[in-house]
Formats: sequence, structure tokens, C-alpha cells
Amino acid sequence: MPTVKYQKGDRVMGRWPGSSLYYEVKVLSFDTKSQLYTVIYKDGTELELKEQDMRSAAGFQARSRSRSRSRSPGRRRSRSRSPARTTRRSSSRTAAVVAAAATETAPSSRRDTKLKDPVEVRLTPLPQTKAAENNTNNKHEKAEENNTANKVNETSEAKIEGEPEKNQGRYNLRRRRDDVDTKTDAAKPEQPEEEEAAAKLAAAPAAALSTPLDFGGKIGAYFWLLFLPAWVLFLILQVNLEDPSLTNFPPPVPLLESFWDAQALGFVILWILFQALLYVLPVGKLSEGMPLRSGERLKYRTNGFFAIAASAVVVAVAVHQGIDLTYIHSNFLQLATATLLISVLLSVYLYVRSQYATPDQLALGGNSGNLMYDFFKGRELNPRIKNFDLKFFCEMRPGLIGWCLINFAMALAEMKQQGLDAPSYAMILVNLFQLLYVVDGLWNEEAILTTMDLMHDGFGFMLAFGDLVWVPFTYTLQAYYLVSHSNPLGPLALAVIIALKLIGFYIFRKSNSEKNNFRRNPSDPKLSHLKTIPTATGKSLLVSGWWGVVRHPNYLGDLIMALAWSLPCGVSHLLPWYYMIYFIILLVHRDSRDMSECRRKYGSAWDEYCRTVRYRIIPRVY
Ligand code: NDP
Repeated sequence: MPTVKYQKGDRVMGRWPGSSLYYEVKVLSFDTKSQLYTVIYKDGTELELKEQDMRSAAGFQARSRSRSRSRSPGRRRSRSRSPARTTRRSSSRTAAVVAAAATETAPSSRRDTKLKDPVEVRLTPLPQTKAAENNTNNKHEKAEENNTANKVNETSEAKIEGEPEKNQGRYNLRRRRDDVDTKTDAAKPEQPEEEEAAAKLAAAPAAALSTPLDFGGKIGAYFWLLFLPAWVLFLILQVNLEDPSLTNFPPPVPLLESFWDAQALGFVILWILFQALLYVLPVGKLSEGMPLRSGERLKYRTNGFFAIAASAVVVAVAVHQGIDLTYIHSNFLQLATATLLISVLLSVYLYVRSQYATPDQLALGGNSGNLMYDFFKGRELNPRIKNFDLKFFCEMRPGLIGWCLINFAMALAEMKQQGLDAPSYAMILVNLFQLLYVVDGLWNEEAILTTMDLMHDGFGFMLAFGDLVWVPFTYTLQAYYLVSHSNPLGPLALAVIIALKLIGFYIFRKSNSEKNNFRRNPSDPKLSHLKTIPTATGKSLLVSGWWGVVRHPNYLGDLIMALAWSLPCGVSHLLPWYYMIYFIILLVHRDSRDMSECRRKYGSAWDEYCRTVRYRIIPRVY
């Protein structure tokens, strides 16, 4: 058993993130998995620190006394480092604040150099503004937290007993700053200089700070940028083969010019413009997104169902007029290349425009300061041209509806190629199952506003490529495969596959709706039977109902559905199972990203949730 150096309640010196300054902190807990201590600073800021960024108070005083004799304060000042260096726009401001904070505790110059390594801390999110605090949902949540004698709340409240003020300040730096602002001027000089500076630093725009790097960090970004497009093209080349297999490596590579077709590019542009037109039509509801860090709530035109219905009518008319949609099957590679080009150009545009975004418009996760990483991960959270939300549009429209269009084209291609009067059962199932998934997503389009992509991820290559290329050109591989690999299904197989799909869909829809409804209206009487855990952000966490079974019941439903999508293709080849395999990897990784994000946001309340709901996706298994 590894020993834990500092115990709960110990008062030690903790390094302030990104600087060489140490402040007194109290140890709140230690997470054996991440090997991080959760500590609380005197101003109420709660952070996670590595052991190497902590010093025992006694040893620290002795060291800093000996160092302070040998170094001038001027030199020390120039060496302190702001975490905001990663952000061009805010670096000067925060650097000045930290410079002002350099005091007694500055370490030696040799150590300063060492400290330039990034400190792995997870900063608590910045505060909602008064506007956000006053929004209806929050009021409901606060009211809800006050009157839930039957809820798990007591557990957490007991924990914070004796420290009411500090816990109020947890994860809510601006409230504390407001408190400071309301103090009389006479009281201000009593606050030690470094504490005041630290408080100011903490109150700097959150986007000036970046969450830990993901996806393999900077090297990972290069890898994914090259690998993902290559992988899509590889899969498309494979599915064309009579015997698609990973062992066919390298696959037969066609001539370079066969990747390109100007007509295919024109077709893709036309499709995106058509979807954009449907998106901007003043049809359907205007839904409010979740409060941003600035407190603002963006409005989104949620008319996705109208968009797919209108698209279906247009496609039906086009087919009736004799347009041959099997063009999509025979020019799949060229269409994918053209869409890839568009996604790259879009990502470049997004990166360039993000340079003009204000710090609070940036996503915490794509703001590392490294060009390639930020280009990949996405810097700006909600890039908009007037009211046209680029991320929301790309997430929900061209790729998603395009997925159904491609599947339909594959069904026509199967009939043509195999001389059938109607598509095979396997093809019908794949088409209907995936159509149901997309139609459901568009019918409940508002629910996407509470998902990770919309709330946390910046819009960059990862999402632009994912939405426009990955989804329509790899999620359709099952239908593509069936065009030339028929797989007859008996009644029993049909029944089992349909049952699986329905079970998966039920879990997926119910759990997503439960969380979405709770986030939109925590005091919804229909949800009053559910137990919740309050968090210091003002939001609560569901701890019973679907979200009490596993931590991601929606992923479980999605995975069962993925199984039902692959089964119609049989087991002769791995390729149609690609979606299932990829989806397991995606959701396991997504789950761990979300765990880190929620732990950062909710701290000990999240730990409490994880203790209560032990399994992540599959009950008693994972
Ligand atoms: P979720 O919809 O699960 O959203 C995660 C967020 O929900 C958390 O960050 C947290 O946000 C909130 N949350 C977590 N636990 C609780 C709780 N106990 N009580 C209340 N709120 C909680 O994640 P995704 O965005 O990853 O997935 C959305 C859907 O999309 C899923 O069904 C997924 O399967 C599907 N999906 C499909 C993909 C595909 O390619 N087919 C790809 C990715 C996702 P906060 O607390 O801030 O509200």
C-alpha cells in the first residue's frame, strides 16, 4: 500500500497553479487513483495538487527563510509565472497580477526553472455571474436543495459542517470576489498582498486557464490529425473489397486522381447550404442553452425534425424526377475526400476566428496555447456568425441527416447491384434502426444542449471532422457493406435483433430525457421522487432513477443499440462490427473525460456520487 504523505486536515503549503508561489492550504482529501490531493486555500479556492507541489509548513518556512536572505525581491518578481501565459490575450493582465503577488515565498532560481514545467492542477470553473445565479433553474435548484430532507443531501451537508463560509466559496470564486468588493476600503489593507493577488488571479477569466491536456496531449494532436482522415479513407477502400479484412494491408490504393471529383465537392457544398437554409428558416422553437461562464444563455433554433422531414421530401421528389442516388455509392470515396477538405477549411477558419474571441468565449479544454492541440481540440466554445451557431449546426444537421441519406442510397444501390425488387431484411433493419436514432436525436434536439460537446468542447477539427466526415462516412459502413455482402436473416434472428434495438433505445431515450429534464427544470414535479446530491456550483446530481443505476446509463443504451446495428451484417467480417468496437472505445474514453470534468466541477460531491453509484456503464461489470 503506498503511504499518503499528507492527511486530511493537515495544513501545508501548496503551490499556486502556474506560479512559483506557495500559500497555506488545508488538505481535504487524497484520491488514490489520480494521486492528487484536494486542498483548500485560505480564500476558499479548492484545487487538486500533486504531492510535489506541496510542502510541509515547517520545512517550507526554514527553506524560504534561507532563500530570502540570498535573493532580491526584484529578481523574484520577474520569474513568477502566470497560468494565463497559455492565452495570449490575457497573459499580460494575469502576469501583472502574479508579479505583484511575488513575496517572501519565492523559491530559488534553479527551482524557478524547474517550475516552468506545467503544474498539473485542475482549476475549479469560474463562477456564474449574478445573471446566471439569478436564472430560474438555479433558483429552483437552490430551493430544491433547501427542502430535500429525504434526499442524500444530508450526507454532504454533514461533511461541510463547521466550514460554512469556506464551502460556500468552493467552486465559486466570483462570489468571493464580490464579497471582497463589498468590504469597506478600510478593511482591504488588512488582506495580505499575496492573498489579494491570488484572489484576483483566481477571479481572472476562466478561459485564461486550461484544463489538463487530453487525447495524448500535443503529440496526440498531431497523431489524430493525421490518423483520423487516413483511417476513414482506409475503411472506405476496405468496404469496396469483396473480402474486406484488416489483413489486407496495405489496401490496394487507387490512383491519386480517383480521390477527387469536382462534382462530388459541388454536391457536398449544395447539401450543406441546403441544410443551412433549413436551419435558418424561422420554423420551430428557439431553445435556450445552458448558462455559459459569462452567465449568458444562447438561443438555438431547434428545428431539426423539420429539417429531416423537409430533406426527405426533397430527396423523394429528386428520386421521382429520376436523379440516381446510387451516385453516392459509386462516388463514396470522392464525396468523403470533398467533405474532408471542407472540414479542414472550416477548422482553419474556426482557429483563426478564435484568436479574436474574448477569454470567456474560449473552451477550457482547447486553450492550451499549443497551436496544433488547440486546432484539433477547438478553442472557441460557441462560434457564431450572427445567430448562426456553427457547432450546433454541424453537430445536428449536414452529417446526421446526411447519414440517413447515404443509408437510403445504399439500399437503392443494393437493389440495383443484386437485382432486387426491395432491399434485404438486413438492409431494411440497418436503415430503420439508424433512421430511428437520427430522427429521435432531431426530435429531442434540445437535449443536445446539455451534452458535453455543446457545453464543454470547443469547436475545432475534432468536432468539425467528426460531425461532417466521421459520422456520415463511417456510420454508414454497415449499409455500404450490405450492398455487396448479403446476409439473409431468419425470423428468430430478426426478432432478437429488433428486441435488442428496442431495449437499447428505451434505456438510451429514458435516461437522456431524465437528465435533460432535470437539468432544465430541477423542480419538475415528475422528477420529485428522484434523489439528488447538491454540489457547490448550485447544480445537483441525480443519484437515483436511471442515473442511480450506472453513471452513464445513456451510454449503455447506446451500446446495446450499436450491437443491434451490427448483428444484421452477420459475423463473416469484422468491418461491419467496426462501429461497435469504435463505439466501445469512444464511450469508455468519453466516460473518463466526463468523470474528470465532473470531478473538476463538483469536487467532493462528485466523489460522493461515485461512491453511491459504483459502476460507470454496465451494472456490476464496468
Ligand atoms: P451526457 O449526456 O451523459 O452528459 C454528461 C453530463 O451530464 C456531465 O458532464 C454532467 O454535466 C451531467 N451529469 C453527469 N452525471 C449526472 C448526474 N448524475 N445527474 C445530473 N447530471 C449529470 O454525455 P454525452 O454528451 O457524452 O452523451 C450524450 C448522448 O449522446 C449519450 O446518449 C451518448 O451515448 C450519445 N453519444 C453518441 C455518439 C455517437 O457517435 N453515436 C457520440 C457521443 C455521444 P452537468 O452536470 O454540467 O450538467
